[in-house]
Amino acid sequence: MHVLVCEAPGKMTLEETDASRCGPGQALLRIHCVGICGTDIHAYGGRQPYFSYPRVLGHELSGEVVATGDDVDRSLVGQRAYVIPYLHCGQCSACLRGRTNCCQNLEVIGVHRDGGMAEYLVVPATHLVTSQTLSFEQLALVECLAIGAHAVRRSQLGDGELVVVAGAGPIGMGVAQLAQAQGARVMMLDNHEGRLAFCRDTLGVETFDVAEGDSLDAIASFSDGVMADVVFDATGNPQAMNRGFDFAGHGGRYVLVSVVRADITFNDPDFHKRELTLLGSRNATREDFDRVTRLMEAGKLFERAMITHRAPLEDMPGIMAQWCDPTTGVIKGMVHVAGGSETDHQTPEAAHE
Ligand SMILES: [Zn+2]
Ligand SMILES: [Zn+2]
Repeated sequence: MHVLVCEAPGKMTLEETDASRCGPGQALLRIHCVGICGTDIHAYGGRQPYFSYPRVLGHELSGEVVATGDDVDRSLVGQRAYVIPYLHCGQCSACLRGRTNCCQNLEVIGVHRDGGMAEYLVVPATHLVTSQTLSFEQLALVECLAIGAHAVRRSQLGDGELVVVAGAGPIGMGVAQLAQAQGARVMMLDNHEGRLAFCRDTLGVETFDVAEGDSLDAIASFSDGVMADVVFDATGNPQAMNRGFDFAGHGGRYVLVSVVRADITFNDPDFHKRELTLLGSRNATREDFDRVTRLMEAGKLFERAMITHRAPLEDMPGIMAQWCDPTTGVIKGMVHVAGGSETDHQTPEAAHE
């Protein structure tokens, strides 16, 4: 089978290997779609902490189950599925409290072990989720949006609350959509006009270009002076993360979704005066994946509009660098492993309203 190996930062090569066989508890997936996300971009760029090369990238995966281990339910074969890429140990204190997303011994498919940029991948059958109605492209987008679902769940967001999302990349867009699904009013901040236009026109949120003026003034006028109930950071930028503390109102919450290799600091009197709640948000749990799947099946998300670029696996060595550059207009790149780069836009059951 073909497999795309990231040999070193900036270098991907297509190789030929034997497809693995299923052991107990496993299923063999014929990969159809792989979404490219920030993690892949940072790994390709050599900026992903704790990452070792060579590595097969790809953790936003969908495909068809083509074989299962002897002890696995045979009815999985032939079904469309996505993969929950977070392999938790089930034994540490986080796992025992149901916090599998921040397992002490977490391994992520496509990060700590080889991922789905290949024609076939063996995965634990317990980490497959099947759907009768979603297309392969949609299934490959569930993980990206589940990150947003987890962040929103962490914040205990209520109906009618006012949300500011800093960072209009795919993760921020996921947070915004899940916040809207929760009944919140959303304002997004970024300095990339193309992405802000997408957020306004497609997601229907308020936007503010941080290069155009003072974010504090913009948030104050959006909130009648009370500032945000919940602020989400999805910028990946330490200065922006420090700045985000000021966006929350009295009694507000601040959720850090993006992770950076830096110290984040805040002024304690300002923090205490408002009795802010600061929350980290890492990965997602099955509950978050389920929430996204249900919303997607109900046509409540704009996931496919986020796909701006598509290509077959063979083309990736030549175009990955382009997909890492937001100035090319990329929001979400989608690799089509099986079936070339044909889109599934016309699939009637998956049409958007
Ligand atoms: Zn991802
Ligand atoms: Zn664990």
